[in-house]
Amino acid sequence: MPNWQPEQLGARTWLLPTGVNVGLWEGGDGAVLIDSGGDKESGRQIRQVLEQRGWNLNLIVNTHSNADHVGGNAYLQKQTGCRVAATRLEAAFITDPVLEPSFLWGAAPFRELRGKFLQAAPSTVSLALPDSGPIPGTELEAVALPGHFLQMIGVRTPDGVFFAGDALFGEEILAKHPVYFLYDVAAHLSTLEKLQGLAAEWIVPGHGRPVREAGPLVAANRAALERTADTVSSACARPAGFEEILAELCRAFAIELNPSQYVLVGGTLRAYLAWLADRGALAPGFENGRMLWRTS
Ligand SMILES: [Zn+2]
Repeated sequence: MPNWQPEQLGARTWLLPTGVNVGLWEGGDGAVLIDSGGDKESGRQIRQVLEQRGWNLNLIVNTHSNADHVGGNAYLQKQTGCRVAATRLEAAFITDPVLEPSFLWGAAPFRELRGKFLQAAPSTVSLALPDSGPIPGTELEAVALPGHFLQMIGVRTPDGVFFAGDALFGEEILAKHPVYFLYDVAAHLSTLEKLQGLAAEWIVPGHGRPVREAGPLVAANRAALERTADTVSSACARPAGFEEILAELCRAFAIELNPSQYVLVGGTLRAYLAWLADRGALAPGFENGRMLWRTS
C-alpha cells in the first residue's frame, strides 16, 4: 500500500499526496482524478486507494503535460479504461511524450533526457478541454493558468477546492527550489495576478501543502520570480553568454546541474531572457560566434 493517505478537503474532494499533489473528486458517475502522479508506481498506488475506497475511476483531468503530473495516466488508463482530458497543446505532449524532452532540449533528446522524469508513458486523450469553462460530464471547472507550461489549467471543484497545478508552489518547495520552471514569464505573472484574488476553501499547489488563502502563497511565488529575474539582469551587467548567465544562476541559488536540471533551468533562463528582452531591459547581440545578452 502507498505510504500516503487520502486527505479530505471538501464534501466530495480529496487530496492524494503522491509526491506531486493529485486531486480526486467523487462525482455521480465515478471518480475524477486531477493529475495522476509521476510514474507507473504512482498509478498503481492510486489504483490501490481507489479500490480500497470503492471509487470507480471515470476520468483523469490533467492540469498540464509535465511527466510528473501525467506519469500515472498510462497505467490507470490500461487498468480501468478511464478517459483522459487535457487542453489542446498539453494533449499533444500527453499523446506523444517525446515532445517534452524534445521541447526542452530543442532537438531529438539524448538518452539521459528520455527517462520517466521528463518523458512519461503515452496515454490517449479523448476529451479536449477549453482553457476555461465547465469540464464536460463533471461539475468541475477549468481555469486558464498559462505560464509554467503552454496551456496549463487549474481545476475548481463545486465544494470549494482549487487545484492550481504548477501555477503555485508551496513555500517549503520554493525554499528548496527557488528557481521554478517557467515557459512564459509574462503569462505566469498574469496568472499570479488572477490567483491573487482567488476565493476557495482550499488552494492546492502542484507541489507542497494546501493553503486556505491565495495571497501569501502568490506573494511568495512572485518574490521568487523577482529574485530570479534580478539575478539574470545582474549577470548581464557586462555582456554575457547563455552559459555564463546559467552558471551565475546556479551559483546564486546553489543549483547542481545534471542533464534534466540543465534543460529545465536552461529553458527557464530562456523564458526570462525573452521576457526581459521584450520589456526592453536586455538586448541580444552577436560577437565572434557568440550570442551575448546585455542590459539596454
Ligand atoms: Zn510539477
